[in-house]
Amino acid sequence: MRFYLTTAIDYCNGKPHLGTAYEKVTADVLARAMRARGRDVRFLMGNDEHAIKIEQAARERGLEPIVWCDQMEALFRDTWDALLCSYDVFIRTTEKRHHAAVQEFLTRIRDRGDIYLGSYEGWFCTGCEAFKKPEELTDGKCPEHATIDPKWLKEDNWFFRLSKYRDPLLAHFREHPEFVQPDFRRNELVAFLERGLEDVSISRRTTWGVPFPFDLEAKVYVWFDALINYATGAGFAADAAEFDRWWPADLHIVGKDITRFHGIQWPAMLLAAGLPLPKRIFGHGYVNSLGGRMSKSSGTKVDPKDIAAHVSADTLRYYLCREAAYGADLEWSDERLVARANADLANALGNLLSRTTSMVHKYLGGCVAADISGSPLVAMAAAAVDRVEAAVDACALQDVASIPMELVAAANAHIDAKAPWALAKDPARKDELAYMLAETAHLTYMAGALLVPIMPAKMGELVRRMTGVEPPKSGDWVTLRTRGLPKDRPLELGPPLFPRVDAIASEN
Ligand SMILES: [Zn+2]
Repeated sequence: MRFYLTTAIDYCNGKPHLGTAYEKVTADVLARAMRARGRDVRFLMGNDEHAIKIEQAARERGLEPIVWCDQMEALFRDTWDALLCSYDVFIRTTEKRHHAAVQEFLTRIRDRGDIYLGSYEGWFCTGCEAFKKPEELTDGKCPEHATIDPKWLKEDNWFFRLSKYRDPLLAHFREHPEFVQPDFRRNELVAFLERGLEDVSISRRTTWGVPFPFDLEAKVYVWFDALINYATGAGFAADAAEFDRWWPADLHIVGKDITRFHGIQWPAMLLAAGLPLPKRIFGHGYVNSLGGRMSKSSGTKVDPKDIAAHVSADTLRYYLCREAAYGADLEWSDERLVARANADLANALGNLLSRTTSMVHKYLGGCVAADISGSPLVAMAAAAVDRVEAAVDACALQDVASIPMELVAAANAHIDAKAPWALAKDPARKDELAYMLAETAHLTYMAGALLVPIMPAKMGELVRRMTGVEPPKSGDWVTLRTRGLPKDRPLELGPPLFPRVDAIASEN
């Protein structure tokens, strides 16, 4: 079965920061977990290149916008590679295929009667690139962009008849309670819908953007163009069979600030174009530092590549999943990252692998041959696969991280309770020793296999040391419940997977 997963595409007016990294990494964990379950995954990421502020960023540096965007693509891909993101498609909204998709999409909506010419004036936030209603401003400022003064703009524009879709959307929200998650986000959107929708302007008089198919003077408003990337990425307007295969998207992962665009405007656009709606939209929280959101405009500069270089990309990925419930904000703390790296990964997981493999060598000659199929610990590990899969379905990434760590804790407790070093002194208890070490090795292996989506490099290495082969790219969890370690192959010894991490030096 196929699974089409997307992240929001990023404005490339500055380098990727921890906030964007949070979204890509967490979506990547879901993509990898779905592949492990044997699903045929298409994972879309990309850059949103038609914003006015991107054109400005380029011109300030004396560059053509497209040259700047090319440079930023390389920078973004480099960061996502460093963070082990396994996207299948990287879309750029300046690509020809995307322009063609946007123009086809607009033409369809106009042919069905929901695009018309009108004029609009109001407060415009250049940070959001959106008109704001007076009640959306706090002391005259956009709450997301307190440092930017909104401008009063009047434009003759093409409009999308969004108002028409209030009732159909309310009906869709009623019939599909899972459509927008977490639930409190869905409730916000339903309340917003109940207040009524106004038509929205979808064109701009600028030089940078997708040309309107039926008005050569106009460019498509960047938000309207950007949302369509999800259809472009599935083959819309290019390959009908491909689009049939991949659309509708199974899951859009987006930030909480743009959940409304994705939960209201995007489905309205799809309804207007006669296309099926995505199955689910999940709004994640922000990464906050010292009370402020980590983003380009807040002035917080934490380069996720620097963090990954210090603690390892796997460790950063684990922290981002484990530290906060997915959907809530994550309060970033260097100290907590280092504490978790050392407690959960160096001490609990890394040390478990080291002492298990070394004891299996010391006491059993390297192999775990005992038949442990009746062990309650084996049943616990099999049940953990079900629990992790349910957590993946619920986007409960904190549980996806913590459930395998329960197996780690159980294995460490088992070693402490059974004291294999004492069993080894009594030849009459040889079988008991072989049995408990096989149980411990099994728990270690199962925890590692379940943590592969979060920590693909280091858990790939753990699985390889224990089985002789790297986990396959697809389908590893399909038989994981009943699969054990090979009985005739010695576990491989190796250096610690998670050396202890030092405190992160502050920059001042
Ligand atoms: Zn704003």
